[in-house]
Amino acid sequence: MTKMYRLLPLSVIALALACAKSPDSGSAKDTGHAATAVATERDGAAPITSGAPTTEGTMAPVSGGGAPTNPASATGASTGAAVIPGTANPARVPNEMGRIMVLEYHIIGDKDSQYGRERGHFRRDLELLYARGFRPVTMNQVLDRKINLARGLSPVVMVFDDASPEQFGYIDRNGKLETDPRTGMGIWLDFQKTHKEWGNTAVFCVLSGASAGHNFFGDKGIGGQKTEWRFPKIKWLADNGFELCNHTLWHAQLSKFPDAFVQQQIAQLQLAVDSAVPGYRIRSMALPQGLWPKNRALASRGSWTNPKDGKTTSYNYEVVFEVAGGPMRSPYDPAFNGLSTPRVQVIGNVIEQTIDKLEKAGNLYISDGNPSSVAKPPAVAAR
Ligand SMILES: [Zn+2]
Repeated sequence: MTKMYRLLPLSVIALALACAKSPDSGSAKDTGHAATAVATERDGAAPITSGAPTTEGTMAPVSGGGAPTNPASATGASTGAAVIPGTANPARVPNEMGRIMVLEYHIIGDKDSQYGRERGHFRRDLELLYARGFRPVTMNQVLDRKINLARGLSPVVMVFDDASPEQFGYIDRNGKLETDPRTGMGIWLDFQKTHKEWGNTAVFCVLSGASAGHNFFGDKGIGGQKTEWRFPKIKWLADNGFELCNHTLWHAQLSKFPDAFVQQQIAQLQLAVDSAVPGYRIRSMALPQGLWPKNRALASRGSWTNPKDGKTTSYNYEVVFEVAGGPMRSPYDPAFNGLSTPRVQVIGNVIEQTIDKLEKAGNLYISDGNPSSVAKPPAVAAR
């Protein structure tokens, strides 16, 4: 990883950015990396420099990542019926108790890496998902049980961590700002032009106090992004249906800090979002590197009082994203637990492999097209 954090005097925290394996990630195979961090945190504004991962993840082959699926081979395993690319397949047996992938992206850029998705591969991910009957939904829609998809379609939650300029960049054309088509958002918006029902329904877990441009998608000219574009980007996301999620102020490894500091990191990001979008209600947070604070409850609930003005900021989230763990449970599943939401880190062909596995097991969330009923899988319904 490149250095992404501001370096202030006397404060150095080495951080392998972007999410090593969570110690709680259950069956996940990715070993992630041990953070080589040594923190000498000075105060609430302590910055970080990034450290290189010490080991590579072993989850999936990185080379040739994101190989496209032949749509003709995309069959609904539970039915054997061919899926028509890009359309709902009514022959797929609805199962609204099935699993939902929460995909985790970091940088969308020039090459594939543990924390990067080459932009052409990202585009192919979208094509693959679309062709196999997936449509993006926000985490809020999951929480509110408003996954209103046509019969035969499956939801996918797409989450972008770290607020890098590569995810959402602007280009200034004679004073008119345009979304950079080479950034993740540019690719997303272009994809929408030819793929109906692909909504503005992704989740951005943002940072506002990190360096190397990881500050609401770029600052100080990094990646060509101006500091004054930060708030307009955040506001544009919120105004256009995208979901904002708290990834802490500067990606602090919450396991290493005292309770008060943990709450400050989370509260200050919330304040920053509120500055850009007054009144915005954040409902989810993503643990930097999957590291829980010592007091786990503080990840989702806490408060911080600013010593300067005495104002207290409280947060109470319904979702804590892990960095791994496989597909999450349906919100209709009694065992659904938003406060430990597993994700699938997009590396190699993991999307395709996960879909194949879920379809084979008959354990994929497939909508019945009727918002007022919850389709049970055949085995359950028969009982
Ligand atoms: Zn991260």
